[in-house]
Amino acid sequence: MSNPYGLSEDALAKLRERACLCVYCHKEMIYPFDTKRRSDSATIEHFNHEPPWNNIETVAYACGSCNSSKGAMPLMEWLEKSYCVERNITLDTVAQPVRDYLADKDVSK
Ligand SMILES: [Zn+2]
Repeated sequence: MSNPYGLSEDALAKLRERACLCVYCHKEMIYPFDTKRRSDSATIEHFNHEPPWNNIETVAYACGSCNSSKGAMPLMEWLEKSYCVERNITLDTVAQPVRDYLADKDVSK
C-alpha cells in the first residue's frame, strides 16, 4: 500500500486506533479510502498544513467532506465557516487530538 506523507504503517495504525470517526464531525468513516464515496472516506488531515508531514501530533483521520471543506485553511478560521457552523463543529466538539493540537499551538488566543 502506498504510504502518503511518509507516515509509517505504525503511525497510521495508531491513527486508526485513535478514531474511525472523523475528528471533526464524528461521522463514521470508510476505510480504506473509497473513491466512490469520497466524502465518507477516511482521509489524512493535517491540522496545520505545514511540514513535517509525518508528525503524528499534527495529523488525524478526517472524513473527506471535512477535509476538502477545510483544505489549507487554518483550523481556527475554518471553525468559523458555515460548514462548521451548520454541523455544529466547534472547539468544544472536535476530537481530543484536535484540541491537544490547538492547546499545544496556543492558536486559540
Ligand atoms: Zn467529518
